[in-house]
Amino acid sequence: MKVVEYERSLQWVGHLHCPSCQHDNIGWRSSGMSEAFPHFYCSHCSNVYLNRQAQDLVYYEATPELLARIAAALPACPCGGHFTPTAGPKCAACHHEIPLVRNAVQHLQNPNMVLLDGACLVRDEGESYRVRIVG
Ligand SMILES: [Zn+2]
Ligand SMILES: [Zn+2]
Repeated sequence: MKVVEYERSLQWVGHLHCPSCQHDNIGWRSSGMSEAFPHFYCSHCSNVYLNRQAQDLVYYEATPELLARIAAALPACPCGGHFTPTAGPKCAACHHEIPLVRNAVQHLQNPNMVLLDGACLVRDEGESYRVRIVG
């Protein structure tokens, strides 16, 4: 899989704090202007699925009905897990799920996608890639 590297010093590289073990997980976060929605995390790992083809459905309004419709079509993750509307990234130190998704319906319009170091972005449009934080 293609690897995309981000410099540690970049504005969008930061830390995702684990509430369980207090580890600060380094990762990249897409900006509010990125339109990186809807996106979904894997039930098992920190991979993310960007469902660009569903964006038109939720651009102006997110509803439980739309969530159910989109969720029914989410693919399996390459790790063997499944992309789901309520999963969050997993702490690299203790594997605790970090609760980024508080409201699955509102999350449909959340453009701030977190890709932890080593996580893969799986896309319905365009090539998938793995993120590596360097420097
Ligand atoms: Zn942890
Ligand atoms: Zn996975």
